[in-house]
Amino acid sequence: MTDLKSLVRTIPDYPKPGIMFRDITTLLGDAQGFKSVIAQMAEPYRTQPIDAVAGIEARGFILGGAVADRLGCGFIPIRKKGKLPHKTIGMEYTLEYGVDVIEIHEDAITKGERILIVDDLIATGGTAEAAVKLLNQSGADIAGAVFVVDLPELGGRKLVESHGIECHVLMNFDGH
Ligand code: AMP
Repeated sequence: MTDLKSLVRTIPDYPKPGIMFRDITTLLGDAQGFKSVIAQMAEPYRTQPIDAVAGIEARGFILGGAVADRLGCGFIPIRKKGKLPHKTIGMEYTLEYGVDVIEIHEDAITKGERILIVDDLIATGGTAEAAVKLLNQSGADIAGAVFVVDLPELGGRKLVESHGIECHVLMNFDGH
């Protein structure tokens, strides 16, 4: 059994001092590691009806596409502002400095569809919370949210769970 946590590379002080960047490219580049991550992310939802995975740009696309294939469902990209070609709906969220916006196509979701949120990592939960609000606004029934890495000290998982969304994570790391 591959130790998935040991396949995540930590880069101190990236992109700025004090941040421990948890780099999953080393995990994705390992055939057994990647396979195992996708299997574990999909596992809790294998027996549930899921209409689509919504993956958050950009690492959520790599993982979300593979999870969707495994679950036999569709894939919806949640993108940064201005990237999607058709009519969109957006949701603003706060960053450390300023605000950002994520968007989906306005016709991506039919009311009541069961959607699973996928991203690589949850830190403060700001991005995932914006995804929850955006999907709720689109009429989605959010089945849950799944991440490879959680940084529990930043409280993001609790924030998402406070919206009544079940979260699954594969591993925790201390610190920021
Ligand atoms: P947040 O909105 O604070 O939960 O941040 C989550 C997003 O930022 C995810 O899409 C991550 O890819 C990225 N991110 C935040 N902190 C880190 C970190 N320490 N290492 C790697 N990625 C991070």
